[in-house]
Amino acid sequence: MFLQGGGTLQFAMVPLNLLRKSGKADYIITGSWAKKAAKEAKKFGDIKIVASSEESTFSYIPEVKKEDFREDADYVHITYNNTIYGTHYPYIPDTGDIPLVADMSSCILSEEIDVTKFGLIYAGAQKNVAPAGVTIVIMREDLIGFAKGTVPTYLDYKVHAENDSAYNTPNCFAIYVAGEVFKHIKSIGGVSAMHDLDVEKAKKLYDYIDASSLYKCPVREQDRSLMNVVFVTGDSDLDKKFVAEGKAAGLHNLNGHRSIGGMRASIYNAMPMEGVDTLIEFMKKFEAENK
Ligand code: PMP
Repeated sequence: MFLQGGGTLQFAMVPLNLLRKSGKADYIITGSWAKKAAKEAKKFGDIKIVASSEESTFSYIPEVKKEDFREDADYVHITYNNTIYGTHYPYIPDTGDIPLVADMSSCILSEEIDVTKFGLIYAGAQKNVAPAGVTIVIMREDLIGFAKGTVPTYLDYKVHAENDSAYNTPNCFAIYVAGEVFKHIKSIGGVSAMHDLDVEKAKKLYDYIDASSLYKCPVREQDRSLMNVVFVTGDSDLDKKFVAEGKAAGLHNLNGHRSIGGMRASIYNAMPMEGVDTLIEFMKKFEAENK
C-alpha cells in the first residue's frame, strides 16, 4: 500500500489497527524514532518497553529472545535502521506467533527482506524511494480489518487495501517517482545488486574511520548501519569545525542530529561512490591539518 503522509503517521496507525485482542504491545527502543513510536502507541494501549539501548546513547542493538515478549502481546515493534544513531538490526527478532512490526523508513530497498517474517513493515519514502509525503506499508492480509469503529476512516488499513491505495487522491507524483526508482533498481540487477553497492560504499567509509587516528565510530561493529554512518572526533569543537569546513568544501549536512552532535554521513541509495570518495578525501585532509 502507498499511504499519504510520513512514517510518523504509522506510529499511530499501527496501534490503532493492530491492538486487536489484549490491547498490549511490546516495543524495543533503539533511538528517537522508536521512542516516538512507543510514546504514540501509549495513547492507545498497554505498551511495554522490553529492551532499550538508551543507557549507551543507542550505540548498539539489544539482543532479545522470544521469552522477553509478553505472550499475549498483539504485536512487537522495532525500528530496523536507526537513522540518527547509525544502527541497524543485525538479526530479525524471533517473536514466535506475535506479529513483528518494523519501521524500515531509512533502509528500505538497501537489502533484500524476507517479508514473511514480519506482520507489518512501514517505510516513509523519502530516503530511498521517492520525495517525502508517501509511505509504503506491507502487511499480512490476516492482520487487516481490526480497527475499531471509532478509528477515523483514513487511519484504517482496510480502507487503503480495499481501494488499492486510492481511497482518495493519491500522492501521484511521489508514487510515479517510486515507480521510476523501482525500475532503475531492477535495471541494475535488483535489490541484491543495490545492497552490494551499499555495502561497498559503507565498508569503504567505516574502514577509513576505523583506521584513522582522528575519527571514531561510536556504534558497535555488528550493528552498524549501511545508510547512516555516524562518527566523532571526540572533541565537540573540532566536530563543529569539521562540519563547517565540510560545508565550505561543498559537503553538506554532515552534522549529526541535534540530539547527539558529532557527524553523520547519510549515504542512501542515491549517493554515488564518488560522494563517499570525496568525503574520505576531505576527511584525510582535515585529519592532516588537525593532528
Ligand atoms: N522512522 C524513521 C526510522 C525515520 O528516520 C523517520 C524520519 N527521518 C521517521 C520514522 C519519521 O518519518 P516522517 O518524517 O516521514 O514522518
